[in-house]
Amino acid sequence: MDFLQPSTWDEALAAKAAHPDAVPIAGGTDVMVELNFDRRRPPALLDLSRVAPLTEWGTDGDMLRVGAGVPYRRIIEELGGRLPGLAMAARTVGSPQIRNRGTVGGNLGSASPAGDAHPPLLAARAEVELASVRGVRRVPVESFFTGPKRSVLAPDELIAAFRVRTARAGEQFAKIGTRNAMVIAVCSFALALDPVRRTVGTGIGSAAPTPVRATAAEAFLVAELDWDSRGAVPPGVAAEFGRLVAAAAAPIDDVRGTAAYRRHALSVLARRALVWAWEGLR
Ligand SMILES: Cc1cc2nc3c(=O)[nH]c(=O)nc-3n(C[C@H](O)[C@H](O)[C@H](O)COP(=O)(O)OP(=O)(O)OC[C@H]3O[C@@H](n4cnc5c(N)ncnc54)[C@H](O)[C@@H]3O)c2cc1C
Repeated sequence: MDFLQPSTWDEALAAKAAHPDAVPIAGGTDVMVELNFDRRRPPALLDLSRVAPLTEWGTDGDMLRVGAGVPYRRIIEELGGRLPGLAMAARTVGSPQIRNRGTVGGNLGSASPAGDAHPPLLAARAEVELASVRGVRRVPVESFFTGPKRSVLAPDELIAAFRVRTARAGEQFAKIGTRNAMVIAVCSFALALDPVRRTVGTGIGSAAPTPVRATAAEAFLVAELDWDSRGAVPPGVAAEFGRLVAAAAAPIDDVRGTAAYRRHALSVLARRALVWAWEGLR
């Protein structure tokens, strides 16, 4: 197996163009598991750990551009105040060691329906920045996933960054697992309420072939929330929101849980996330 180790972004893009079969490796917390279990034997690895721009983030007005190689630990420590929903999700990922190595770019690259970064990125209407020697394109995260562990990423492309609006408040993430740490989500839910734009964003994880939004639930809530006086969420509104979120999922029965359990759990998570997020804004 060849080991390609570019030290600049241009070198990385040129290497991917010349070796489209090379598997990028960032934190390695997914790639190394696959290699160790012999599930994958690529002709080459493309190590991205020396490409400095991937580990940088910056602001552009109220937008944030976060390099694909920023690990969860730094999302929590450096961006927790600006991206509260993603930071909540990041805190639930693996263990301190995994959060130290694992990156949001790697989570997107793996495109698992259970990836914990995906629901908050969906809820916040983030965009994924993809690059190749042919140029750069931005894809709404909603259009990025095409199936379980599949995405629109072309063989010669790399994930450069994700772009998302700064939030500060109004975001929540909740995840069900068999215990509190080191678990793949049985299901998860993210909510983003933007009181300035009066928008509602949702993201469902681990309950459909890809991470999905609950668009009917979003439209319902935009109309029902008392944006002007920020009165309490009426119980009937929270219950209906939970029902619409559960209806947007397309879960399966598997070793982690049944479809029926996932739907029920999602309706509970959605109700709770709504109350927590709205109380935070009030
Ligand atoms: C013990 C353990 C616990 C875990 N717990 C969780 C958890 O709770 N929640 C969760 O969501 N995940 C969990 N994971 C999975 C993993 O940590 C995450 O998916 C993580 O985000 C992967 O990031 P990485 O940088 O390590 O990716 P890597 O393993 O380096 O790469 C993952 C995939 O993305 C591709 N890739 C990486 N960077 C790029 C790039 N810039 N451009 C294009 N493709 C790229 C790789 O080729 C590969 O296909 C866990 C893993 C382990 C081993």
